Amino acid sequence: MKKPSVAVIGTGFGGLAAVIELKKRGFDDIVVLEKADDIGGTWRENTYPGAACDVPSPFYSYSFEPFPVWPHRFSRQPVILDYIRHVAKKYDVLRHIRFGTEVTGASYDDDTGRWTVQVSGGDPLEVDVLVSAVGQLSRPSYPDIPGAETFAGPAFHSALWDHDVDLAGKRVAVIGTGASAIQFVPAIQPEVDRMTVFQRTPPYLVPRFDREFSKHHHTVFEKVPLTLLAERAAWYGVTEGLSVAWVYSKTLSSAIQAMSKRHMRKQAKDKPGLFEKIWPSYQIGCKRILFSSDYVPALAQPNVDLVTDAISEITPTGVRTADGVEHEADVLIWGTGFKATEFLAPMSIKGGDGRDLHDDWRDGARAYYGMTVPHFPNLLIMYGPNTNTGGGSIIYFLEAQASYLGDYVEHVAATGRPLSVRPEVEQDYDERIQEQLSGSVWSRCSSWYRNANGRITTNWPTLGRQYKKQARFDPADYQVAARAAEKVDV
Ligand code: NAP
Repeated sequence: MKKPSVAVIGTGFGGLAAVIELKKRGFDDIVVLEKADDIGGTWRENTYPGAACDVPSPFYSYSFEPFPVWPHRFSRQPVILDYIRHVAKKYDVLRHIRFGTEVTGASYDDDTGRWTVQVSGGDPLEVDVLVSAVGQLSRPSYPDIPGAETFAGPAFHSALWDHDVDLAGKRVAVIGTGASAIQFVPAIQPEVDRMTVFQRTPPYLVPRFDREFSKHHHTVFEKVPLTLLAERAAWYGVTEGLSVAWVYSKTLSSAIQAMSKRHMRKQAKDKPGLFEKIWPSYQIGCKRILFSSDYVPALAQPNVDLVTDAISEITPTGVRTADGVEHEADVLIWGTGFKATEFLAPMSIKGGDGRDLHDDWRDGARAYYGMTVPHFPNLLIMYGPNTNTGGGSIIYFLEAQASYLGDYVEHVAATGRPLSVRPEVEQDYDERIQEQLSGSVWSRCSSWYRNANGRITTNWPTLGRQYKKQARFDPADYQVAARAAEKVDV
């Protein structure tokens, strides 16, 4: 059989990891479909002031492409985007990309054993293997608050920041206090006239041990690559330690909670009553803990009010809370996160016999090691269900998935037959991980890790190291997609 053709959807870290792995293994018939005019995924979309990664860059980067010249340990968004561009260029990914091409749907043809991919404003294309790399956090979520559409001033989401809106001297309302808000609140606080931050549930915060890397560091990292590797290994250890705390060690999670309490109390000390408002009451680790050394000091500034009363409605001139008070605002910013549990939406994905992926997932998305789904032959998902980490770097998981994909496509190339994960294999796997998750820390509060039924659809239950070890392609887990097999000469 000729080498399989592959379509990859998305050009974030996941899409690039997939393409680079396939190219490394000699596959070149690859088309990458990107809805925007540039690469970068979440790091292209999220341009809000203060956007940065809270996983240190020596670990939040590809293992095969160490980067000795990070300006900071915790890189800012433009630097990460530059890194992604550097990688895409160096590994010759760009020539595979079709920009401005949004995938609206894809359907598997049982007779040909191939996928037809529908794209906006263009002809459909046919490929042997379809790889979704659209991420978990790409579609902004807006809570259903009465009156939201009546707000008269500019209103935008953190992931769709409107840089044309001048915030200087304005009264700004911020809804949400998650990972994005705790970065943009301190970045805009000095320029706004007043800021009202609406908090429903406070996050646990720990210090961000950021540092600038000087020219001297860069030279050392360049000349002695082992030093950069050591920095990577150290941060792998620290972040994996968080997963150890959430999954295995009450002692370690209590120690992190004590550290968080000291940090938050100290930073809130200048504003009476602030610490009591921001100290969480749920079990630590249940929501993502956040690394920040400047959020609480921003809340403590005289031009910032932290409101903890529930929001009852948005009015044309502000936000009304349940106590009846209207908090006036000129600009409204939604820091309300993403539709993380709606995997692969809004694409329509039809598998064998016309099965609809979203029907199969109506109780929650699920996939074998987050990557393959019964009855959807030769569909692979990067950063799919239950592959998010409560502690580490998602790039570590993506590399494990790229390796799985490489083995899978090599097998398909060798046999000339499309594969489909055995339903009973996926069922056993799903039961096992849901059993592990049911007693986990993530089951103790509501968060974007859980869907409306309470099922945890985003997170991997244990450590990154265990995912990497277990998520290995084994042909025995798969069956040949039957009808196509009859037609294929092998
Ligand atoms: P998020 O963590 O989901 O936070 C959303 C915030 O909006 C929460 O505080 C939530 O409160 C609040 N909210 C939602 N509906 C509300 C309502 N009706 N009324 C009041 N508040 C409401 O979203 P995010 O901050 O955008 O972060 C999402 C994820 O993106 C992060 O967890 C992380 O994985 C990723 N991210 C990463 C980085 C990084 O540095 N690596 C930076 C930014 C984002 P509740 O908690 O009560 O629901």
